[in-house]
Amino acid sequence: MKPGRRMDEFTLIDHFFERAPRNPQVALSVGDDAALLDISGRLAVTTDTLLAGVHFPHGARAFDVGYKALAVNLSDLAAMGARPRFFLLNLSVPAATEAWLADFSAGLFALADVHGVDLIGGDTVRGPLGVTITALGELPPGTGLTRGGAQAGDRIYVTGHLGEAALGFSHRQGRLDVPPGFREDILARLDRPVPRCREGMALLPLASAAIDISDGLAADLAHMMEASGTGAEIDLGRLPLSAAYAACFAAAGWDLALAFGDDYELCFTLPRQRVGAFEALRPAFACGVHHIGDVVATPGVRWSDKGEPYEPARRGFNHFG
Ligand SMILES: [Mg+2]
Repeated sequence: MKPGRRMDEFTLIDHFFERAPRNPQVALSVGDDAALLDISGRLAVTTDTLLAGVHFPHGARAFDVGYKALAVNLSDLAAMGARPRFFLLNLSVPAATEAWLADFSAGLFALADVHGVDLIGGDTVRGPLGVTITALGELPPGTGLTRGGAQAGDRIYVTGHLGEAALGFSHRQGRLDVPPGFREDILARLDRPVPRCREGMALLPLASAAIDISDGLAADLAHMMEASGTGAEIDLGRLPLSAAYAACFAAAGWDLALAFGDDYELCFTLPRQRVGAFEALRPAFACGVHHIGDVVATPGVRWSDKGEPYEPARRGFNHFG
């Protein structure tokens, strides 16, 4: 038994997380010293922590905390082109409240079921509220999208719409008034982001590089260009903004869409000779996908607004900044 752990309560917790695995690769799941997985091929492995008061507010709905903790990890797998398969959950809770745990596990498994991923293990401890998930995804042998494959001449695309989570956050903080008709959707984008797993898998044989947008397009595109040893030229007029964002543009400007983050959309590059193959796949991108600019040899990201140079105000969302 680990320090800070009360066996009676935490045995009770376990029943919220014990489910029969759906995936035949899980030879042994939650309940033993370790899980056993029958794998051939390649695994993509990623981990992310969400802390109360840092990544979500104290008092956030437990359902949303569970949902988002898994979503941000699946988004990283999507950026690699991997098929999500399994995850581990490490949960720190101040008290084992049955209602909170029921709601949390409902949110977690609501998303897990959409993508057919199995919880295969983890740990629960008493402490400040925080969730760490480690997600594992499967790739055909020798494959995987990375940040480092873009080449000058490639096109740059993003999925979905940018800046909606930023609007939701700003609205909730009372810094920006989102019109009533848009509020529910905007807050859902913040609280329950949609990982673009199907889109990532579709891009695996086509894209030259990819990243998921967690820190804002400005920061994440810069990461991808740096890893590729290339630069980018982006026309802001091509940025995919939703009707909600357009309605708030006077207050939000470009920067909520460029530099807040929490979008969990994919940004990827596509060699020009694969544009035709990609266009044939476009109907599979129900979330929408937009060509926003091009990869160039000169390092750095250059933004333009109606032909004039533009500099995003803030480079990403830095938790320790
Ligand atoms: Mg990422």
